[in-house]
Amino acid sequence: MTKTSSFAPIHVIGGGLAGSEAAWQIAESGIPVILHEMRGVRGTDAHKTDGLAELVCSNSFRSDDATSNAVGVLHAEMRLAGSLIMRSADANQVPAGGALAVDRDGFSIAVTAALESHPMITVTREEVTGLPPEEWDQAIIATGPLTAPSLAAAIQQRTGADSLAFFDAIAPIVHTASIDMDTCWFQSRYDKVGPGGTGKDYINCPMDEAQYNAFVDALIAGDTTGFKEWEGTPYFDGCLPIEVMAERGRETLRHGPMKPMGLTNAHNPTVKAYAVVQLRQDNALGTLYNMVGFQTKLKYGAQAEIFRLIPGLENAEFARLGGLHRNTYINSPTLLDRSLVLKGRPGLRFAGQITGCEGYVESASIGLLAGRFAAAERRGETPSLPPETTAFGSLLGHITGGHIVSDDEPGKRSFQPMNVNFGLFPPLEPGSVTRPEGLKRFRGKDKAIAKKQATAARALEDCARWLEG
Ligand SMILES: Cc1cc2nc3c(=O)[nH]c(=O)nc-3n(C[C@H](O)[C@H](O)[C@H](O)COP(=O)(O)OP(=O)(O)OC[C@H]3O[C@@H](n4cnc5c(N)ncnc54)[C@H](O)[C@@H]3O)c2cc1C
Repeated sequence: MTKTSSFAPIHVIGGGLAGSEAAWQIAESGIPVILHEMRGVRGTDAHKTDGLAELVCSNSFRSDDATSNAVGVLHAEMRLAGSLIMRSADANQVPAGGALAVDRDGFSIAVTAALESHPMITVTREEVTGLPPEEWDQAIIATGPLTAPSLAAAIQQRTGADSLAFFDAIAPIVHTASIDMDTCWFQSRYDKVGPGGTGKDYINCPMDEAQYNAFVDALIAGDTTGFKEWEGTPYFDGCLPIEVMAERGRETLRHGPMKPMGLTNAHNPTVKAYAVVQLRQDNALGTLYNMVGFQTKLKYGAQAEIFRLIPGLENAEFARLGGLHRNTYINSPTLLDRSLVLKGRPGLRFAGQITGCEGYVESASIGLLAGRFAAAERRGETPSLPPETTAFGSLLGHITGGHIVSDDEPGKRSFQPMNVNFGLFPPLEPGSVTRPEGLKRFRGKDKAIAKKQATAARALEDCARWLEG
């Protein structure tokens, strides 16, 4: 039975991971919600049931370690914020070592039951075919990577053709600290400075002829993942997978993304590299670099193995590996404000994977934030943003502003969806990681773990303070 309320309802479109969590957060704050979910009327190519918050593929929420794993920290922050998704996951856990894995049916049934029985929530089964009408003055679009075509077209019409992507052509992203700068050097091609640049904006990894040939052979022999039927669209020439370029001819890469022109090896200026792999700064903090032009369909294991053949990347740690798959997402850093509102359309928010986060937990967490922000606005308050030091804040920062626009490729989108990872968190204050007593040497792995632990502890403390506050 729906309760009456002095507040007008907030409309949430999409009852997936993000929409379900957003609806819950709004309803729990005493504001009515109308949740519009099309399944039951129209399906998607990946969902198999009509249940809310259906997990379309793996049943894992990944690591539950809140002391030294970024997604574990996000779990913990969501639990602190009273997340329905986490409550239902915890109640339907199946054994999976350090990971939080769930019985997918039990999980979806629990979420559906909680939402359908909440007195503040009305679930309607219908496809929303255009942008929410103006009279829905507070609304959240959380329609996910498989947003129905009619709504996707309306979003595209409103935001511009370049603002909506239907494919994720993902190049791997590397933690800067794991790149060997005794082999690599900073330089922009032809030392070009460009607006906002320094002439040293790229990290360059040099290859000699033998290394290049071995690398091309490994790419061609590497194990690739096939496209699923629902992904049917062929890729376009601007974002060919690196291994497809290698197959087109031994020299293709050397004349494409691996061209050595305009670059001088700072460690060995008299020897011209035969080929160069370039990495471009990926986040404002400079803690992550992406491999330029290295979108790939290689399997994750093959990627890590092959990309570590690149001089300077022998010990590379990947914040994310490359991929190419169907994914509808908007160019959030230019379109959304810090509280996820579409610029020029007050009260209309986006949440979940369509904003450019990736993964069940991340999508749900952005739903949680969007729900809280919308509820605050409905109460006449200014939404309170999570501190940047939290997992919530780091992910929100990535979505709404943490990317770098490339001057070398004007017009090319540089924003790519990403899972939460420690590379998105602001660095620790100097001196905040000290050598534990009894440990003679404190570097390498021990230091990296200590840094993660300190970042995680800071996040949880700051999150608790934010939620109290
Ligand atoms: C094939 C595939 C496999 C994936 N595998 C994984 C994985 O293993 N692990 C992982 O962490 N992440 C995975 N993802 C990513 C995953 O989709 C997201 O992490 C998560 O489900 C996104 O949450 P969401 O709420 O943004 O979207 P969804 O969970 O997809 O929810 C969106 C909802 O909106 C509804 N909808 C769409 N359009 C409309 C409309 N016009 N009107 C009304 N309702 C609408 C849909 O029916 C759906 O219920 C996968 C994605 C895909 C496509």
